[in-house]
Amino acid sequence: MMSTVLRVALPVPLPTLFDYLPPSAGGEARPGCRVLVPFGRGQATGVVVATGVEASVGAGKLKRALRLLDDAPLLDAELMQTLAWAADYWLAAPGEAYANALPLALREAKPLPPLGEECWSLTTAGRSALDARSRRGNSHAVLAELAGGALSSAELDACLPDWRAAARRLLAAKLVERGERSTAPNAPTREAPALSEEQRHAVDAVAASLGNYQSFLLDGVTGSGKTEVYLALIERVLAQGRQALLLVPEIGLAPQTVRRLRERLGVPVEVIHSNLAEGERARAWLRARKGEARVILGTRSAVFTPLPHAGLVIVDEEHDGAYKQQEGFRYHARDLAVVRARALGVPVLLGSGTPSLESLANVESGRYRALHLRARPGAVHAPTVQIVDMRAQRLEHGLSPTLLAAVADTVARGEQVLVFKNRRGYAPVLYCHACGWHADCPRCERPMTLHAGRRALVCHHCDHHARIPTACPSCGATELKPQGQGTERLEEALAVRFPEVPVLRIDRETTRRRDAFEQLLGNLRDEAKSAILVGTQMLAKGHDLPNLTLVAIVGVDEGLLSVDFRAGERLAQQLVQVAGRAGRAAKPGRVLLQTHHPDHPMLRQLLAQGYAAAAQALLAERRQGALPPFAHQALLRAEAAQRTAVDAFLGEACAALPADHGLQVAGPMPAPMPLRAGRQRGQLLLEAANRRELHAALRPWATQLARLPSARKVRWSLDVDPIDL
Ligand code: ADP
Ligand code: ZN
Ligand code: ZN
Repeated sequence: MMSTVLRVALPVPLPTLFDYLPPSAGGEARPGCRVLVPFGRGQATGVVVATGVEASVGAGKLKRALRLLDDAPLLDAELMQTLAWAADYWLAAPGEAYANALPLALREAKPLPPLGEECWSLTTAGRSALDARSRRGNSHAVLAELAGGALSSAELDACLPDWRAAARRLLAAKLVERGERSTAPNAPTREAPALSEEQRHAVDAVAASLGNYQSFLLDGVTGSGKTEVYLALIERVLAQGRQALLLVPEIGLAPQTVRRLRERLGVPVEVIHSNLAEGERARAWLRARKGEARVILGTRSAVFTPLPHAGLVIVDEEHDGAYKQQEGFRYHARDLAVVRARALGVPVLLGSGTPSLESLANVESGRYRALHLRARPGAVHAPTVQIVDMRAQRLEHGLSPTLLAAVADTVARGEQVLVFKNRRGYAPVLYCHACGWHADCPRCERPMTLHAGRRALVCHHCDHHARIPTACPSCGATELKPQGQGTERLEEALAVRFPEVPVLRIDRETTRRRDAFEQLLGNLRDEAKSAILVGTQMLAKGHDLPNLTLVAIVGVDEGLLSVDFRAGERLAQQLVQVAGRAGRAAKPGRVLLQTHHPDHPMLRQLLAQGYAAAAQALLAERRQGALPPFAHQALLRAEAAQRTAVDAFLGEACAALPADHGLQVAGPMPAPMPLRAGRQRGQLLLEAANRRELHAALRPWATQLARLPSARKVRWSLDVDPIDL
């Protein structure tokens, strides 16, 4: 019978859906239900996309699905529709798109986990112990977190990653108890401040759209009060009995936000991110699907959370590249959030102090409404910014006399300094003065970074490690010199120069343990004493340090000279974010920017007129150059051990483009890094002035790529709206 065929999305990287006969027993398979099917020599769990379709092969050849896994659709109609749209837009394997929407634990043929959530609270003894105990260590931190009310394991994960051992000790000592989450809300423990006029205007504008789709861009620097706007809107959404989804680019930003949401809203906050235990993540997702979870805070993949009672979607730091998934299903969570909001009929609020050029173009074209927070309630003044011309200065480990003098002044006043350098390790190059040889990664043919602490050369592209040679392998000279500076070297130099001041390095190396990081920053927040922080972009985000008054930016020249057309935008965003660390509280801040290119027009404009003006200029350049967002791109990437395999595939792919496709084609050509981790890499860039044209040409082509004979010999991917070329 033709009418009962099921069309199923299976988690395989193929551009097709699969047809099965319905299982012989069990209920009715509906779109959005999971189903277990025979696949290849084994079995696979898929999602029913359609029922009653005409089979793509003769019904006699169809296999029968083994078992229906859900009585009711796990993915509701809105998510199914959004996912179909997303798979089409990002030219993805549909099965991978559906799989992405489900937490890992739900991609298996197992019964759904119970929804109850493990949660922790203080006992009476715990409450007294909190006052009595020394204010140190993990146990105290757990008690302190619970003082504001019971917390779920997921919430604890978000604020204290290493809390479990301490919680077990406290449980044994009867200072805390474990139970099931009660749905009864805690009373909010913190009052909302009176909103400024700008904040009120923003809240009113979005609130007036509740119940309808509309995109808003909330433009306000860090400290301008965006989060207060989110909170006020979420309160309204909750009062209507609806759900709010808040996306943040990385989990490091979540703890402070979780705390603030909880203190203010008095409802449980579901946290969904990739560091969460799979069971917890699945439970949070299912509670959202049942409508029990009212506020959902999460990173990229949380954009797929079911929202049966949706009220509002918020994307914080919307410009952040972390929203783009860079493997498998290459969706962009911000763009998908907008699409979902439209499907859900709710407003979406994108917030940033440094909006993406894409969003600014959408404001210009009238698709998004702009809201501004220009005053800065969290700071008295915007910091003053000064360029330090490095040319003809005597540098000490890359630090100019002007910069060192400013550091000395600041610490002498008992204040804190942030020295920003976006490079880990000791030095980016190890160089032979005798013959010019330098240590390259054999698998990438790029310089390896010298790491003094680890006593190794490390490739930052492929993580290849090598020993530090004692003599030049090329000429035998023993004069091998580190060239350039990384955070490790700056830390060393500053510690020698300022022996009386604590110098703390904060980068991926020193903060593998996140609680250590939090603790470090916590100490600095509480104490009004001088310190020098040396760090990478990790330090650029979040974290209020009221006593931090000087930000010294060392080396932005890589960003100024890059050939990537997005480099200028990224650099402007990064500079503004880092500069925003200075003077967050009552004390005025100062920013020094050390560069060899003091007259660079983008830098000049950024400093003289601010981000909005610089962004408008960058946008004008993009328009002139017919670059995104004024053109639309797709990038086919391929890699293999042999260059010939890459060339063959990209050549065939190029030849397979439909005749009269009307696209601009660049390549096949080597990738910007032609060799990486020992693999040869190449790419083909396709571009159109018109989005529809691009998709019309690429849709049939994308499904053909997998069938090209040469496709078997390479790893390839197709990336729509790539953010790095
Ligand atoms: P953003 O999210 O833009 O970085 P926040 O909402 O975190 O800004 O606000 C920065 C600081 O200013 C916070 O400490 C916040 O409590 C405070 N703040 C924000 N709005 C107000 C207001 N209307 N009145 C008083 N304090 C405010
Ligand atoms: Zn040499
Ligand atoms: Zn390498």
